[in-house]
Amino acid sequence: MNVAMIAHDQKKNDIVYLAIAYQNILKNVNLYATGTTGLRIAEATGLHVHRFQSGPYGGDQQIGAMIANNEMDFVVFLRDPLTAQPHDPDISALLRLCDVHNVPVATNMATAEALIRAMDAGLIDFKPKVRD
Ligand code: PGA
Repeated sequence: MNVAMIAHDQKKNDIVYLAIAYQNILKNVNLYATGTTGLRIAEATGLHVHRFQSGPYGGDQQIGAMIANNEMDFVVFLRDPLTAQPHDPDISALLRLCDVHNVPVATNMATAEALIRAMDAGLIDFKPKVRD
């Protein structure tokens, strides 16, 4: 199971809390993250995180490439809905690719918690994708 975690600056504390709260589940998956988000999660939890570039420097697109290659099972992307982002096109592209490839994506804490719990309970089959 490959899981990507991304959080904008105003949401970084939230994603760290999420990673701490669910580290017993997240330790059993392959964690990927944009640069700063991954550093924060790794420092707070000790979990191994494969870190890509920082989001504004291409990290979102690197995660998008994994989605396009059918290599990502689940994305947590805690967006800041109140602050303009310089890499907004990359953010839209990442979310679009999740929809194209039918990858579950949580954009707020409530959905992230629900999907992490569902993943742990085996309630959702994340694997099958729409495309062949
Ligand atoms: P960051 O990137 O984790 O490197 O801050 C996230 C983003 O802002 O898209």
